[in-house]
Amino acid sequence: MKKLLIGAHTSAAGGAPNALFEGQEIGATTIQLFTSNQKQWHGRTIDAEEIKTWNSALKETGISHIMSHASYLINLGSPKHDVLSKSRQAFKHELERCHQLDLAYLNFHPGAALDSTPEQCLDVIIESLLTLKDLAHSGPTRLLFEATAGQGSCVGHTFEQLGYLTSQLKGKLPIGVCIDTCHIFAAGYDIRTKEAWDTVLKQFDHIVGLEHLYALHLNDSVKPLGSRVDRHAPLGQGEIGIEAFKVVMTHPKLRDLPKYLETPDGPELWKKEIALLRKFAA
Ligand SMILES: [Zn+2]
Ligand SMILES: [Zn+2]
Repeated sequence: MKKLLIGAHTSAAGGAPNALFEGQEIGATTIQLFTSNQKQWHGRTIDAEEIKTWNSALKETGISHIMSHASYLINLGSPKHDVLSKSRQAFKHELERCHQLDLAYLNFHPGAALDSTPEQCLDVIIESLLTLKDLAHSGPTRLLFEATAGQGSCVGHTFEQLGYLTSQLKGKLPIGVCIDTCHIFAAGYDIRTKEAWDTVLKQFDHIVGLEHLYALHLNDSVKPLGSRVDRHAPLGQGEIGIEAFKVVMTHPKLRDLPKYLETPDGPELWKKEIALLRKFAA
């Protein structure tokens, strides 16, 4: 049996290594973090000293398959020129930081169409990512499109859109998809039972390809199926229910993928949820 990769989005306040130590405290074997303030355009620089501490914290904690979540401001599909160029710049710096920290994944929301069409938005996203081709190949980090809930004009909420993005970029850039359980449920994909999960995974495989699925965000959903509203709930306390997460921990297509909790309430809850998920897998 492979080692279970379960963790949460821990806090990098006071430096990235702190996110690893918080992960260790909650019993995580992997973590997600922000490499910079997620609400600011201007990303921070990581210096040699921090990289040194980071590398020794990696060894000390044994935490692996680390994922960065890109800033919420970035819209690689924006129809507005100023936002698009700021987004491309910020995303480039984000990827540079990921490489510095030797991160496995950079997870990001594909983009929002605003007053353009979803199709136009997807093509702008592809164009944005192609400008980073050389940089993307110069480090270990794989770029993961996060499946979204489809709030407002956000793209990436249908498997067709995710499939379009991956099919246009595969072979050109190291890319993939991260499924957020809350988001796909809110986007209309029912995952409440084993049978429902099987149907959804079959669809995903047909339209996107399961070989492109690299990771999962585990969250229950405050809002009902198809609501297209993104509100995370603790596992088993939302509209999805606990059965879905039992399936996640035992399903042959899902069990070995790295999983990151983004449930509300923070470390105390995550510690309990990680223990629960381990129990499901046993
Ligand atoms: Zn996200
Ligand atoms: Zn969310």
